[in-house]
This record gives sequence, structure tokens and C-alpha cells, in this order.
Amino acid sequence: MELESILLPGISAQRPLVIAGPCSAETEEQVMATAKQLYDRGQKVFRAGIWKPRTKPGGFEGVGTVGLEWLKKVKETYGMYTATEVATPKHVEEALKAGIDILWIGARTTANPFAVQDLADALQGVEDTIVLIKNPVNPDLELWIGAIERISNAGIKKIGAIHRGFSSYDKSIYRNIPQWHIPIELRRRIPNLPIFSDPSHIGGRRELIAPLCQQAMDLNFDGLIVESHYDPDDAWSDAKQQVTPDVLEYILNLLVIRTEVSTTENLTELRKQIDECDTTLIELLAKRMRISREIGTFKKEHNVTILQSDRYREILDKRGAQGALCGMTESFLRGIFESIHEESVRQQMNIINK
Ligand code: PEP
Ligand code: MN
Repeated sequence: MELESILLPGISAQRPLVIAGPCSAETEEQVMATAKQLYDRGQKVFRAGIWKPRTKPGGFEGVGTVGLEWLKKVKETYGMYTATEVATPKHVEEALKAGIDILWIGARTTANPFAVQDLADALQGVEDTIVLIKNPVNPDLELWIGAIERISNAGIKKIGAIHRGFSSYDKSIYRNIPQWHIPIELRRRIPNLPIFSDPSHIGGRRELIAPLCQQAMDLNFDGLIVESHYDPDDAWSDAKQQVTPDVLEYILNLLVIRTEVSTTENLTELRKQIDECDTTLIELLAKRMRISREIGTFKKEHNVTILQSDRYREILDKRGAQGALCGMTESFLRGIFESIHEESVRQQMNIINK
């Protein structure tokens, strides 16, 4: 995939690149007042939703095209870059005409390949546009990558991903569960793709913004997109998760930005020890599998089923408890032994079916 960095002239290349602004543009006054407060606190990229995807009809669906005029005014007055969500080819056309600098594709749209392809077609020929692609609402990495590929195939090179968490029917402290392993895997699959974190939509509540920003930085994410409103409690959408520009500044100032690679000798030595541990782990696993295959041969000769449910349950319970005694969570150990058991069963199946 051919990608270019999304450095914006006049903005430091240092992490994090911050995009801030209200969930939705509501009135000209709200947009301008929020932009002013953000600008006064050093913010350079302003977000506001103009067209809002609502779960049910009857909610505030965005002010529509008129809001683009307000974003234009933010750009003219404060020289800030502007960003908004696009979900249809018409949105793309209007946003580009209004000179919006950054378009983002929302989570509900990313989940629909037809809609993403329509957007990709509308973006043909505007290679310089910056397009950020939110993860789909469901935890499907391939769907996310598919959307990124569709936009890339349209010739767009300045692409970024936004991690905004994944919806779940189960209750959690988060509005959308982060499932950090998914953006981590995205980074492995497309290493030079900038990744932004959207702590507002992950957290769904103000108190979670600061720790989520820190987590994103510790995972080496490139940027943050944070909802900020001059009067959050009265916001027309997502009121609970928006912070004032003042609070945003406070949160950003507290962030500890760590570097990815440390060349200190200590770290090199510790990494060598980790490599050795991993080698030992793999050798032990191989030994365990050899024994498991011997058991497979025994089961075949004695006509015994591969799955012995009681034994499996006993292993998971015991290892989980052992793990807890050694300072790890029970669920982590259970997960590992579930995977090991899966591979054992696969190897024994090979033997029995020979
Ligand atoms: C938003 O950024 O306001 C938005 C609607 O986000 P998402 O697509 O992540 O739900
Ligand atoms: Mn929102």
C-alpha cells in the first residue's frame, strides 16, 4: 500500500497529533466559541460532525451543509485545519468544495463495503485529501483493512486509521470496548499507517479520556481525536463524553510521551533474557505436543475419544489457579491453555485419522 505521512504544515511532527472539537456542529456560535477556546490553548486541528449517524430516527442528525460554512469560518478566522465525517458521495463532494482538510469515515460506514466503495469512487482524483478511517463497529480487522484498501486503491495516499473501540451487547465500563489487540495487529499488518485513538467514543465518559489517551500513547499511536465542546453538558450529541477545551489542555499536558526504542544496555540485556525465555517456552511446548501425540496413539489403539471433557476442565481450572498464585490473571492462563489444548486436539486428530 502506498502511503504518505499526514504531516500538516505548521504542526509539529511530534506525537500526538491532536484533532479536537465538538461531536457535532450545532450553531455558528457554538462552533466559533469552541474553536476560539481550542485555538487559544494551542489546538490546530478542529473537528465537528456535520452529518451525524444516529442509531434511531428522531435524534439530532446534524445541521447539514450549513455547518460547512462555519467550519470554513473557523479555518479563515483561526487558521485551523478542519475535519468532518463523510458517509455518502454527496458529503465528500460538499466537504471538498468547502475546503475541509481531513475527511473521516465513521464506524458504521466502515462496516459497509458498498458504502466505502461509493466513498472511494467519489474520492478518485483528489489524491491530496487526508482520509481517516474509523474501525468498523464490530471487531473485524479484515473489514477495517478492506476499507483502508478501498480508499488506497482510489489513489488516496494520506490515510490514517482511527481506533474508536468496538460495540458489544455486554455491559462494560467502556461505551465501546477497546480490544487493543486489534489496532496492534493493524499496526503489524500495515506498519506505516498512522493510527489515531478516539478516547471519547471508546470511553463514552469524561473520566476515561485521560487514561485512554495515555494508553494510546504507550501503544505508540500517532494521534488523538478528542471531542471537546465549550459547554459539554448542553451538547446536542455525546454530552457525557465531551470535555471543555480547558480540561483537554490539562489532559494533554499530563500525558507522558515515551519513545519506542530505547538503546540503553539494560533494555538490550532484558530483551535477551526475554528471547531466551521464549525459546525455552517453545521447546517446552514442542515437548508437550510430543507427549500429547503419544497420548493420541494410545487413544487410537484403545478406541478412546480425543476429547476427555473432565480432564480438559481439570487442566483449565488447575492452570488458572496456578497462574493466579504466580501473579497472573486466571483468565490469561485459561486462555493460553485453551489454545494449547486446541493445538493438542488438532495433532491427536491427525494421528487418529491416519
Ligand atoms: C463521531 O466521531 O462523532 C462519530 C459519530 O464516531 P463513530 O463513527 O466512531 O461512532
Ligand atoms: Mn460523537
